[in-house]
Amino acid sequence: MLKAASLERRETPWDRALRAARPSVANALEKALAGEDLGFEEGVTLANVEGDDLLALVRVADEIRRRVIGDRITYVVNRNLNFTNVCIVGCAFCGFSRGPDSPDAYFHSTDTLVAKSVEAVALGATEVCIQGGLPKDLDGYYYVQLLRAIKDRLPDLHVHAYSPMEITYGVEKTRLPLRQYLLMLKDAGLDSIPGTAAEILDDQVRRSLSPNKLKVRQWIEVIRTAHSLGIPSTSTMMYGHTEVPEHWVRHLLLLRDIQKDTGGFTEFVPLGFIHFRTKLFQSGRARPGRSDSEDLIVHALARVLLNGYIRNVQVSWVKLGFEESLACLEAGANDFGGTLMEESISKAAGANFGEYVSPGEFRAMIRTIGRIPAERATSYEIRKVFGHADAEERLPLERTAMFAAAASHAPIPKAGY
Ligand code: SF4
Repeated sequence: MLKAASLERRETPWDRALRAARPSVANALEKALAGEDLGFEEGVTLANVEGDDLLALVRVADEIRRRVIGDRITYVVNRNLNFTNVCIVGCAFCGFSRGPDSPDAYFHSTDTLVAKSVEAVALGATEVCIQGGLPKDLDGYYYVQLLRAIKDRLPDLHVHAYSPMEITYGVEKTRLPLRQYLLMLKDAGLDSIPGTAAEILDDQVRRSLSPNKLKVRQWIEVIRTAHSLGIPSTSTMMYGHTEVPEHWVRHLLLLRDIQKDTGGFTEFVPLGFIHFRTKLFQSGRARPGRSDSEDLIVHALARVLLNGYIRNVQVSWVKLGFEESLACLEAGANDFGGTLMEESISKAAGANFGEYVSPGEFRAMIRTIGRIPAERATSYEIRKVFGHADAEERLPLERTAMFAAAASHAPIPKAGY
């Protein structure tokens, strides 16, 4: 009797959630739990969940995350370097770019960027992430020269740099073949590429967001060529603007297909659209950014559809904020991203979340959801696991949900009672 009882599997939170879900949702999720690849129709079913179905998606995504990657939540100590905000591309969703004559246009010198990198390393950074606008008169060899300057000074620093849009621009400017251009960047010290400029990998959506941006075919070509040369990349998707859930599913399945061939993606990062200071929103062409349920669905859907092919799903705390980030880390995500030290792109578009989170703050936040913090390298090699809290772990008041709610309330009335 005792033996029979001990053989029975204890009911898990996802068992209960699956029982409450509609059969089409439960069937797709059970298939994902069994390690099978889901197709487009199943993806669309999961992308449109609400209520009990949403809870089932989130619970199963969290369980798949546990099986694929375990209970650690990783982060990288890094610095973002946005070398210029001058750009000719004119993406309607971008609040960052400026014309060359704008009073707040800037182009940091190479010396400044090297100095910022040196400062970052002194503060414990293992990576710099370099991206910028595309100025009209940029020298196509600028990207190479900047890499060389940083690597000459800091040969061990991981340089994660240049979106597929910037690489395509460099190719256009130099008229070199893509492969040769990438080899030149690699030779100059490029370690990996941010998979940004992906937005939604659908040419019709891209035309409405930015007709001048590189096409889906070009994005794929840059990524596949980089992977074939041993240059890994991240992958991203911008959601919460003009797209519909079917676009998320196609985008994720396309990334999964590339990954099956190349194995070159280190992570997937959903990027919620920050609408406040963008033409796209101000002209009435986009919804006002993503909703809370979209945040949960996109992170969970990514975990379920990518199901181990891309092992890491990262939250963008700059776009989500901390409370939402922690919720998404319980909905399939496993990585908190970078400490950043400085981030101007999301801030310029109106994001409220800041410039820098200390590693101790990351760890304190991670412990609030009962997971184990670990510092990683860009390649996801674990540098240190923090089994126990230490003196640097502290959650400042401004990171708490109560402070965020209090700060967004109207001021206290001064008179009238
Ligand atoms: S998103 Fe990038 S390419 Fe587009 S306008 Fe902004 S800086 Fe330029």
